[in-house]
Amino acid sequence: MNTVWLRNDLRLDDNPALHFACKNAARNNRPVSVIYCTTEAQWKEHNEAGVKLGFRTSALSHLQAALANRGIKLHLLHANRFSNCAPVIAEFCKAHSVTSLWFNTEVPLHEKQRDQDVRNTLNEINIECHSFEHEFLVAPDMLQTQKGSPYKVFTPWYKAWIQQLEAEAEPLPAPTQLSTQTRSTPSNTIVLPLAEDFRQDLWPATEAAAHERAQQFCDEKIHRYLDTRDIPSINGTSTLSPYFASGLISSRRCLKIIQDSYRDHSIAGSWRLDPWLREIAWREFYRYLMLNFPNLSRGLPFKMDTQYLQRESHTNCVTAWQQGKTGYPIIDAAQRQLLRTGWMHNRLRMLSASFYTKLMLEHWSDGEAFFMRHLLDGDFPSNNGGWQWSASTGCDASPWFRVFNPTTQSQKFDPDGSFIRRMVPELSSLDSKSIHNPSTQQRQQLNYPAPIIDYRQARERGLERFKSLNELMSVRT
Ligand SMILES: Cc1cc2nc3c(=O)[nH]c(=O)nc-3n(C[C@H](O)[C@H](O)[C@H](O)COP(=O)(O)OP(=O)(O)OC[C@H]3O[C@@H](n4cnc5c(N)ncnc54)[C@H](O)[C@@H]3O)c2cc1C
Repeated sequence: MNTVWLRNDLRLDDNPALHFACKNAARNNRPVSVIYCTTEAQWKEHNEAGVKLGFRTSALSHLQAALANRGIKLHLLHANRFSNCAPVIAEFCKAHSVTSLWFNTEVPLHEKQRDQDVRNTLNEINIECHSFEHEFLVAPDMLQTQKGSPYKVFTPWYKAWIQQLEAEAEPLPAPTQLSTQTRSTPSNTIVLPLAEDFRQDLWPATEAAAHERAQQFCDEKIHRYLDTRDIPSINGTSTLSPYFASGLISSRRCLKIIQDSYRDHSIAGSWRLDPWLREIAWREFYRYLMLNFPNLSRGLPFKMDTQYLQRESHTNCVTAWQQGKTGYPIIDAAQRQLLRTGWMHNRLRMLSASFYTKLMLEHWSDGEAFFMRHLLDGDFPSNNGGWQWSASTGCDASPWFRVFNPTTQSQKFDPDGSFIRRMVPELSSLDSKSIHNPSTQQRQQLNYPAPIIDYRQARERGLERFKSLNELMSVRT
């Protein structure tokens, strides 16, 4: 028996481990099975969101039916922690006469250690392990500076990456029914531990929905993406991130859809300039960094000096930020979008993270954890990358002196206040000027809080702290 171990790759399409396990099984006349291992305690430690696990439960249930239709049974195993995966999987392999295990790799350190443990344990009992790269469109070791070291800056990495992308992406097809196996109907219902209800109306958790969303985005919105992607009131981005995070669609499938959408373009290769592809590149860049700089998986900042930045810690302010009650309408709208939908627009993630780290001066890793606990698309490399970028502690991060002004950003990216009106209904009666910064009287009348911090003072305090840090570091070196 060939067994495929699914993790953050809950799809049939373009799934190398599943594809090659089935191909090998067909050649050797063997059956195939699939396992998914729950690790409740580890998920808690990693701050995995209940809504994301709800989404995964639903995705796995659909996948279970699609696999059964091909005669492949999905087994749910329970390991509690990553360190238990090796014995639990070994036991399953012995009980089901498994001869080989097939899986797609992940980049964070704990996941890599878990996989190495499984490999070692299975090798001891003569079970082969086959692992595949599924998240990189260009192999990370093909992307190095002239000195032979990993890139630390996005733009040169991106220039090298885009040149090496395949001109005709070829995603692997979904497996067909194996002659060794008969179709069945799943008998058990899948429910992952810690799973919570999520907005199924917004995020139907099927591969078909992911493909439809990608296709529709490329047919209708991709050419306006540059103009609309920063406006939260417009549905101008793909909203595919939850599907990427749980692996219901691959980057290679998206690359193919992008390339197809440029088919009639008069300039060959013009798809390489596509701005949406550049965003998918950011996802890959953060994975590339996490792979090459393991300290990122250890909760450390990329710029180690920034550990010494003097921070604040005010429980009241943190609670207000978490609940969307900071008194800054755009920040509150952002946080409430997260709590209400499990997703936040990218521009708002940047504003909210900048507010938390540069104005409130709270530690970026607490904000990172809060996002992770609530995001349907919680993705460790992208979330860590986004927070470290915003806090100026990361690789190729926003410069330390760049501090977003929440009011002017609000006026720029939500000019008529329609997004704020939707998310902060108590302000909906305000005109499009005062909605970005209501007067004291308006706040009192509408029962909306006063600002938890004074922007100008907070900005000065933050800049002073960074300057002191820079001085301290220049004395030390
Ligand atoms: C503080 C902060 C935290 C973030 N946390 C996450 C997270 O946990 N999970 C997550 O997927 N993204 C995260 N992002 C990146 C980005 O905000 C989301 O990927 C994006 O908003 C998803 O919406 P979309 O699918 O409509 O994106 P689109 O604009 O349609 O982009 C397409 C895809 O490209 C990728 N992408 C786009 N922008 C980025 C980016 N800046 N960094 C990495 N990948 C990107 C995503 O996979 C996205 O689905 C974070 C950004 C910040 C600033």
